[in-house]
Amino acid sequence: FSTATAIEDLITPPVQIRYTKHLINGQFVDAASGKTFPTYDPRSGEVIADVAEGDAEDINRAVSAARKAFDEGPWPKMSPYERSRILLRFADLVEKHSDELAALESWNCGKPYEQSAKSELPLLVRLFHYYAGWADKIHGLTVPADGEHHVQTLHEPIGVAGQIIPWNFPLIMFAWKVGPALACGNTIVLKTAEQTPLTALYVGKLFQEAGLPTGVLNIVSGYGPTAGAPLASHMDVDKIAFTGSTETGKIILELAARSNLKPVTLELGGKSPFIVCEDGDIDKAVELAHFALFFNQGQCCCAGSRTFVHERVYEEFLEKAKARAIRRVVGDPFKKGVEQGPQIDVEQFQKVLRYINSGIESNATLECGGGRLGTKGYFIEPTVFSNVQDNMLIAKDEIFGPVQTILKFNLNLSLRDLLLSTRDINEVIKRANATRYGLAAGVFTNNINTANTLTRALRAGTVWVNCFDVFDAAIPFGGYKMSGIGREKGVYSLNNYLQVKAVVTPLKNP
Ligand code: ADP
Repeated sequence: FSTATAIEDLITPPVQIRYTKHLINGQFVDAASGKTFPTYDPRSGEVIADVAEGDAEDINRAVSAARKAFDEGPWPKMSPYERSRILLRFADLVEKHSDELAALESWNCGKPYEQSAKSELPLLVRLFHYYAGWADKIHGLTVPADGEHHVQTLHEPIGVAGQIIPWNFPLIMFAWKVGPALACGNTIVLKTAEQTPLTALYVGKLFQEAGLPTGVLNIVSGYGPTAGAPLASHMDVDKIAFTGSTETGKIILELAARSNLKPVTLELGGKSPFIVCEDGDIDKAVELAHFALFFNQGQCCCAGSRTFVHERVYEEFLEKAKARAIRRVVGDPFKKGVEQGPQIDVEQFQKVLRYINSGIESNATLECGGGRLGTKGYFIEPTVFSNVQDNMLIAKDEIFGPVQTILKFNLNLSLRDLLLSTRDINEVIKRANATRYGLAAGVFTNNINTANTLTRALRAGTVWVNCFDVFDAAIPFGGYKMSGIGREKGVYSLNNYLQVKAVVTPLKNP
């Protein structure tokens, strides 16, 4: 297999671009300013479409539409069963258009078509089935309060939800945000990432076909500071949910606080440990650690980006991890069997290459990769560093690229430590937790006690034991520490989009 050939000779994606304007109040409309911005094919860096560029005025228009749809529209008052049926109809339409959507997602995002088609589109459908199931099961409680009162709680939609999403999983992020918000009866203004505006507009159209009332879902394309910030600081937006970098998350929280104190959900960066203990099958550990890091070109907020390996298996693991990375098939995401496409854009591409240089400069050992692949687009060689120390930049910062950093644990054990067999686990717990992030962690072991000890000790919103990146619709996802606030997916996500109203009535007439 020649990666260079695969990269130079690109397949034409089997899809047309149909929607490039904002979706506001049921219409596809130009930006108020008339401006557009280019969206690119990361395989070549070439422009694939010009898209309406939103700014504060477009956000104002979208928020007014969402406000009207909430205050006057049928949606929040509609029977929950009817809402559920619309979500199900939408899911059916997504299924029907899966091939085109998968092609569009891969074209705009650079991810392998097989990944989009076989894993992300089915998950998108599944997420909407899941939240359709919740729409008619959201209800309050009857509360046995003291005194002669009948007390009940009503779970009401929160209002107009502002949602800002990133570029690494455009459709899945759309579903995590839109699914629960709609199931609870909210209306929405969604701002897509500037790199990947296309698929959300397409599914916005499908929502209209599914019978979603006008103005319930508005989609604005544009940049963060000019379109995202006005949404986060809008006085008429009742809630903001954001997925992206920790730096931007702080800005969102500040904008929300300075404007109307709207509640905020944040899903931010990570530097997740993947801990390989000495007792498991090494080949499986290598494969899982490889997947945990390299999946989606390494562009996952929960990537297992610090691979801690027990010193007794370190050498064998390293040899095999390196061989696996060298075997990784990089190329045109539309070619069969390709595991890794290009990074999303030139900025991310350069950032990853800078981190690779920083790894080399800090004297980590570059085992393989380390450079660009081909001469166009944003392809990077699968890269593995060994001999990585906790204080190196590549072990501390989120690289967001195909760069595996391997660290050794269980160093300098005394005979007493060996006999008690405790020190190694404590050392790796301490090191795994020594980060400002806390999004996810992976543990690979056959020992139930080790697994239990680690899962309880790791400060992370998800711990995957002997698996990684399992993203069922029902499993909550979110971060400890600077990886975020709140949880998405599962039943937990509903709380983000509901207000609780206590209603108190005397049992006797006054
Ligand atoms: P990344 O570095 O991965 O692109 P960002 O956090 O910058 O992550 O982007 C995630 C989303 O946040 C995108 O939709 C982007 O446009 C938006 N965004 C970026 N900066 C701001 C900002 N200052 N205010 C609101 N949204 C922003």
